[in-house]
Amino acid sequence: MDARHQTLPMVTETTPEADAPRTYELDDRPRDECGVFGISGIDDSAELAFLALYALQHRGQEAAGIVAFDGTTLRTHKGNGLVSEVFDATALSKLVGRTAVGHVRYSTAGGSELANVQPITARFAHGDLALAHNGNLTNQLALRTRLVNEGAIFRSSSDSETLVHLIAKSRADSVDGQILDALGHLVGAFSMVISVGETLYAARDPRGFRPLILGGLGDGHVVVSETCALDILGADFVRDIEPGEVLRIRGNEVIALTPLEPAPQHSPCVFELVYFARPDSRIFGVSVDRARRAFGRQLAREHPVEADSIISVPDSANSAALGYSEESGIPFELGLLRNHYVGRTFIKPHQKDRDFGARMKYNPVREVLAGQRVVVVDDSLVRGTTSRSLVRMLREAGAAEVHLRIGSPPVRHPCFYGIDMPTKGELIGSQMEIPQIAETLGVDSLGYLSLEGMVGAVEKAGPYCTACFSGAYPTPLADVELGLASADGPPKC
Ligand code: AMP
Repeated sequence: MDARHQTLPMVTETTPEADAPRTYELDDRPRDECGVFGISGIDDSAELAFLALYALQHRGQEAAGIVAFDGTTLRTHKGNGLVSEVFDATALSKLVGRTAVGHVRYSTAGGSELANVQPITARFAHGDLALAHNGNLTNQLALRTRLVNEGAIFRSSSDSETLVHLIAKSRADSVDGQILDALGHLVGAFSMVISVGETLYAARDPRGFRPLILGGLGDGHVVVSETCALDILGADFVRDIEPGEVLRIRGNEVIALTPLEPAPQHSPCVFELVYFARPDSRIFGVSVDRARRAFGRQLAREHPVEADSIISVPDSANSAALGYSEESGIPFELGLLRNHYVGRTFIKPHQKDRDFGARMKYNPVREVLAGQRVVVVDDSLVRGTTSRSLVRMLREAGAAEVHLRIGSPPVRHPCFYGIDMPTKGELIGSQMEIPQIAETLGVDSLGYLSLEGMVGAVEKAGPYCTACFSGAYPTPLADVELGLASADGPPKC
């Protein structure tokens, strides 16, 4: 019998070993970057969902969807592409109602069938349900196998559909109970928005890997992945939804249900602060801009260098580069410009030279660089491909010295909690030591922020999940432990 068809033990946070972070030798890569939105008690909820998803676009550019409920009918519009490509005025005008759930999703290859695009909808005993999920469940294949063995039929490879089945099958005697029961089976990362009729539920896993925020707007409430989505709506920040918290929201009424079983400690994802979230957002109770500036200042203390100017790899490294400049006293210059209109292109990169991809996106400002000793600050180094091209570009533009500074430690391990990372074998930080990386990239010097320096700079909201840097996974990777995760990782959201 195939391992996937055996009755499987559940691996949950309650195993005695769960307190200690686990390390794994892996080459798996689930990809599950997403942004979620929910709204209750406001007219034109779909239009507001559109605006919020527009602000959350950086969290997922592959697909977008909105589901709206008007008290009688659930209507859905979703598709592959950017929010502005998927929706137009006609599509939005059909999504009537005062309750809506929205989602943006990121993936780089495969898994882009429409069935996987969220929000996922279903009709169950208590009405129409819509669900949007950010994060990645680490026991989803084990759960799915069990459900399939019990007769469940799946329409997608999305782990979010697993939750829909768990809710529908729960024997609890209320919707609240069914949702709590279902959420209790999940291991890993989830920041979730679910609508059942006109009631909205918002839930965050007990570790709090991904952000989730409650906002107030008029007589209703919104739930967003990041505060930048509150700003675009003119909504007020109410508070972070706490790790393990499950809220039931209906218009202006917000009720905290019994929290999920607490984790030994919280583990918000530090990579959200390093790269993923927008700098104009506050997540985990800290300003992303302030966090990145603190990383930059600490980087300058750890890896000082004599130079004429600091330049950033825009836009994600801007705040860290400013921090480096503040601490070192070396002026910040705009040495690289980023083209904001780069989208999908019909030009195949392999038909062009090796730096074509980077040149599509970045262009050097020769007047700033010529004859200068520059410190280039980037927020992270993943494969090293962008940096290699950028260093060549800067030298061609006349830079006399190029010193690369990275506002995070080497990325050495895949993420199982919802950040899209290449396989371990593709991560330059897992393949080479730092001096070798410096040589490959062709820089005069290379300095990474230390792990202690990074978490120390944002201590207030810690402790953090640092698995992509440290390999210490805060929750069991149940599917891997059970031999279910394939070499390419579990299916994406
Ligand atoms: P690489 O060229 O592969 O080393 O990528 C590094 C660049 O990609 C950095 O400038 C980061 O801002 C950005 N980056 C970091 N993590 C990710 C990610 N998970 N997805 C897309 N881009 C990323």
